[in-house]
Amino acid sequence: MEHNEPSQTIRENHAAVLRSLPFENVDDFEAASRGFLGTLDEPTIKDADGKVIWDIASYDFLEGDAPLSVNPSLWRQSQLVAKHGLFEVVEGLYQVRGFDLSVMSLVETDSGVIVIDPLISAETAAAALDLYSAHRGQRKIVAVIFTHSHVDHFGGVLGLVNPSEVEAGSIKIIAPEGFLEHAIAENVYAGTAMGRRAGYMYGASLERGPKGSVGAGLGQTTSTGHAGIIPPSLEIHETGETLDIDGVEFEFQMAPSTEAPAEMHFYIPRYRALCMAENATHTQHNLLTLRGALVRDPHVWSRYLTEAISRFGDRAEVLFTSHHWPTWGRESILHLLSLQRDLYGYLHDQTLRMLNKGLTGSEIAEDIQLPPALDREWSNRGYYGSVSHNVKAIYQRYMGWFDGNPARLWPHPPKELAQRYVAAIGGIDRVVEIAHEAYDQGDYRWAATLLDHAVFVDQDHPAAAKLYADTLEQLGYGSENGTWRNFFLSGASELRKGNFGTPNHC
Ligand SMILES: [Zn+2]
Repeated sequence: MEHNEPSQTIRENHAAVLRSLPFENVDDFEAASRGFLGTLDEPTIKDADGKVIWDIASYDFLEGDAPLSVNPSLWRQSQLVAKHGLFEVVEGLYQVRGFDLSVMSLVETDSGVIVIDPLISAETAAAALDLYSAHRGQRKIVAVIFTHSHVDHFGGVLGLVNPSEVEAGSIKIIAPEGFLEHAIAENVYAGTAMGRRAGYMYGASLERGPKGSVGAGLGQTTSTGHAGIIPPSLEIHETGETLDIDGVEFEFQMAPSTEAPAEMHFYIPRYRALCMAENATHTQHNLLTLRGALVRDPHVWSRYLTEAISRFGDRAEVLFTSHHWPTWGRESILHLLSLQRDLYGYLHDQTLRMLNKGLTGSEIAEDIQLPPALDREWSNRGYYGSVSHNVKAIYQRYMGWFDGNPARLWPHPPKELAQRYVAAIGGIDRVVEIAHEAYDQGDYRWAATLLDHAVFVDQDHPAAAKLYADTLEQLGYGSENGTWRNFFLSGASELRKGNFGTPNHC
């Protein structure tokens, strides 16, 4: 497919990003490479039918400086996230990263190993375990811990464990209270619609490359193998609860209604290691993921991070999560946890302050500014969540979809509205003409709005469809957020090549 070059507006935007962010700080690159033990010889992971469900080599293009078609901040993040292989966190604690959207961790016990969060697909989880075994020897799995109720943290379990071993009691499946109910609620009830939107969010149908998908910020993309579930045999209910698993003690902290409705953190004294599940990663996370979900609660999220600091902050020497690379050293751990705590707290409090002054979600999203101390930190940048859509989510959480303006209580739906707008402007050709002027001036947001109306009137209008695709492509090139880039480029792709349906799977 033909792609356009990035416009002058986009190039200037990228130059400003390069000037304003601390690219000279390469600590994350050292952390993301630390403890590397090895990776796959064969770059693809296939299912039983021979279909490729994960391809680590497809991100080999992420080398050197950012091309002009990728926001340099997102390029940096993708370089970090695409690193793949087995890594030693501390002796006895390992991670397989870059084999799926999420990260699988392995905790060695007296006689075996505990797996934390076995990825999305049975195939990627099995490949991760094989790589671990090749370096650390065959160790029997004594337990699997699901940190929370999202499919990228349990879907691959059947690649590691036979359910009969759980029934026989030789392997424990451990999860936070409410896990099963929420895993089903979030993945099944609205699952069809979410699946279609997830295809956009993770760029599943996009080619990978400087003018295609470069990653989703949290992980590169989702694997497309076989996902399954085994219900927990042991649920964790209370903060402070401890558990001895084959000689290794775990101390739990419940963190419900944060990044997932059922989620927990834990500290492992033997390894002085703190697992923060998905609540303190190296990105600003989603308060409302673009695939769709219930709005998350930034207020309690922030509070649980404070609690983690007070419970574990003076003991933990390494912090690890189920996405991204670990953080070593108490000072760095406290820095990361408090920055994330302050980020979600600030977004929450300031959105409330501004909505009480009468601003609506979209207005707050334009006006709010993070303080420089939060804004210039790499781990707070919006690669997955963003200030813009998180603020709108907070508005939605407290106020709902309606902004109180009576004209917006009962407008026409998109098609009927588009017909009226296009007629009022003077017909579809005139709409395209005005959109062209906006495009030439670099006002892609206005061009996209005009062309949205145009294609709702006639989706086959060649000039409208072409300009709309070109417009979305420039918006994609400019995005710092991986999921925004994927949404824009997926829209451009459908305008040019037709509907790509719901790519398999999640
Ligand atoms: Zn996840």
